[in-house]
Amino acid sequence: MVGTFSHEWDTPVFKGKTSFPTGLFINGQFVDGSDKTTIDVINPTNGSLITKVSEAMPKDVDIAVEAAQKTFDTTWGLNVSGLRRSELLNRLAVLMVKYKDELSAIEALDNGKTFNWAKNADVSIGIDVVKYYAGWADKIMGDTIETDERKLSYTRHEPIGVVAQILPWNFPLMLFCWKIGPALATGNTIVLKSSEFTPLTAIRMAEIIHEAGFPPGTVNIITGFGHITGEALSRHPNIEKIAFTGSTLVGRKIMEAAAQSNLKKVTLELGGKSPNIIFNDADLEKAVAWTSHGIFWNHGQACCAGSRIFVQSGIYDEFLKRFTAKAQSIKLGDPFASGIDQGPQVSQIQYDRIMDYIDSGRADGATVHTGGTRFGNEGYFINPTIFTDTKPDMKIVKEEIFGPVGVVIKFEDEADVLRQANDTMYGLAAAVFSQDINRALTTVHKLKAGTAWVNCVNQVHAQVPFGGYKQSGIGRELGKDGLASYINIKAVHVNL
Ligand code: NAD
Repeated sequence: MVGTFSHEWDTPVFKGKTSFPTGLFINGQFVDGSDKTTIDVINPTNGSLITKVSEAMPKDVDIAVEAAQKTFDTTWGLNVSGLRRSELLNRLAVLMVKYKDELSAIEALDNGKTFNWAKNADVSIGIDVVKYYAGWADKIMGDTIETDERKLSYTRHEPIGVVAQILPWNFPLMLFCWKIGPALATGNTIVLKSSEFTPLTAIRMAEIIHEAGFPPGTVNIITGFGHITGEALSRHPNIEKIAFTGSTLVGRKIMEAAAQSNLKKVTLELGGKSPNIIFNDADLEKAVAWTSHGIFWNHGQACCAGSRIFVQSGIYDEFLKRFTAKAQSIKLGDPFASGIDQGPQVSQIQYDRIMDYIDSGRADGATVHTGGTRFGNEGYFINPTIFTDTKPDMKIVKEEIFGPVGVVIKFEDEADVLRQANDTMYGLAAAVFSQDINRALTTVHKLKAGTAWVNCVNQVHAQVPFGGYKQSGIGRELGKDGLASYINIKAVHVNL
């Protein structure tokens, strides 16, 4: 018997309710996992149990892949027109607008981000992405290529088949949309696994996808643990492509499993340790505000977080003073209270991990300029933390902390900062603050990062590709480039 999750909110920022099944969504229906085991979903604001959701075992992965394959071969894949795919994606976007507040509330409850951020960033961007790919669905086309007069050569952009998609917990709904948008626009069928820490919006989206009218089996949504369900997806012989967002460590495992099984295509969106560079001639007030947003937004749980903050020596003291005041002004508290900027970290595990990093920074001799402590008595809250007096080989400078912890580092000139900024295995994002556009752009062009922001941070748009250099990833999501990894190109040669 599939369980149901029901919840009512009567809070300063949202009043409303939700109710949905907590099973696996396979072939258009909610079902229990074959072993009937469940996963506890914990409220990070106070550590209480929100609900339990079904756990998918490898047998369930097989059933979901079979359903996706059947749908691909009969009612989706090459059997559905681009116009129809576009119509369905547009309907999905309309329904997401209708349920926007409810989706935002579920996300805030499950993940701990504030209701307002969930609504104005995560769900809004998610809707934009679905709309954007609805626009592409009837424009997937190959080329006619001139070879010689007696031949006709052309390409077809065909869907790949059954694709697996594995999500992290930091932007559960937004990244859900980044994943399904291009896959559906190009005609693939999907088996998607949400994070075991934040499965709820993905399950509610299963219902909404069904309501939009997608054929059963087009999008199958399963919940489960990485080392069981995720591993089964990565090794599955009938999955042709796997799209993963998460840590570099797990990305490597997925690539190995893909290589050892059927050599499925792999795209990876992985971690980061992004440099945020502020030159002497930056607009200081704006640089402080953006830098704070860069590292503290989403409680520092952003792959592109500007966690290494390089400040030129002429403004270092003044910047640090203002940046510290800004960090101290951030209001922590219940994600559903008004005027709150920062909620809890997502889980006890993440809380402990971040606190371990803070301890290691102290032990290595860095100075905690502000923060470094727990906020409140319950839940997983950590005060915004700034370290100074760091050395390049400290763990807090080299490794992704994935929490509200930034290191501020002084630099002298462009050559000095470029050397330090690029001294990392990651290459996801970077930001440069300067009022001299020549300096800003010549710096940007020498940074090894998939995204670079000038005088701003954390800008992502459905239309613009996102992805990493170096060990931050393989392939791109969003934009036109995000379609490329969901198509097989067939070249056809005709003798005339
Ligand atoms: P994670 O790698 O621990 O888990 C991500 C997903 O992988 C989860 O669904 C998990 O169940 C699954 N998983 C775990 N082990 C697996 C295995 N052996 N095989 C298959 N799947 C497995 O990451 P997380 O803690 O959920 O998220 C944080 C990480 O995600 C950070 O490193 C962050 O930088 C990264 N991230 C990157 C982007 C990007 O676009 N580049 C976006 C968001 C998050």
